[in-house]
Amino acid sequence: MTESLTTGSATLASFLATLTDGSVTVLDLTTPLSSETPALVLPDPFVNLIDFSLEEVSAYNEPGPFWRHNNIHTGEHIGTHLDAPIHWISGRDGHDVSQIPVERLIGPAAVIDLTDKVATDPDYLLSVADVEDWEAANGTLPAGAWLLLRTGWETRGGSQAEFLNVDDTGSHTPGVSVECAEWLATQRPITGLGVETVGVDAGMAGGFEPAFPVHYHFLGNDKYGVTSLRNLGRLPATGAVIVVAPLPIVGGTGSPARVLALVENAPSA
Ligand code: MN
Repeated sequence: MTESLTTGSATLASFLATLTDGSVTVLDLTTPLSSETPALVLPDPFVNLIDFSLEEVSAYNEPGPFWRHNNIHTGEHIGTHLDAPIHWISGRDGHDVSQIPVERLIGPAAVIDLTDKVATDPDYLLSVADVEDWEAANGTLPAGAWLLLRTGWETRGGSQAEFLNVDDTGSHTPGVSVECAEWLATQRPITGLGVETVGVDAGMAGGFEPAFPVHYHFLGNDKYGVTSLRNLGRLPATGAVIVVAPLPIVGGTGSPARVLALVENAPSA
């Protein structure tokens, strides 16, 4: 059966065989999406998006005796989601989420592990030196790559308070320095940045210059962001392939996304 379905495509047939024989594992990097999923909370006077929720319309009952279906209510930027260029003022003339070339939603995953640094400093910011150290060991960030920041933040994902880590000075979550955000966006041919935290910028980045530099530089340079990733600890530094699948919302500035990784000989969870 598989043979006949893939006749004429030896490359795809051999790829499918790696899924069947278990030499390639598909990992889910997505946070489950529910009304409990942690979401960004903007300070006054800014207006927040609604959280995700399900509204039951029928459940094998009078409104639909043979079926169950729901309405979904959600902001665009809830849970694991993609930021499209038009999300930010610097990318306002760029693509909405439905216009993103789909080829860019699949690419090599480059994983930088900041877990130790973030464990002692939740405000830790990725620096150009960090990336250069990574490149010395792993090679220059390749074209089309998604740079993934492993920080260990996913372990806080069961609690909105721990995930946002707010005190009276603001939200303390890791991110990227102003200099590194601009450097990555302009000096490396990558497609996007993926993080474990609620947003691609650090919790304190509203006070940076420019404010929210990853949003500013990435979205302004036709690059993307993806947030609230999990299982990055199961990815090698290089060699995995990431698949980012937002909904093609016409005019959308972002969308909840299912994010998968293909990993050869992945360690078990
Ligand atoms: Mn967003």
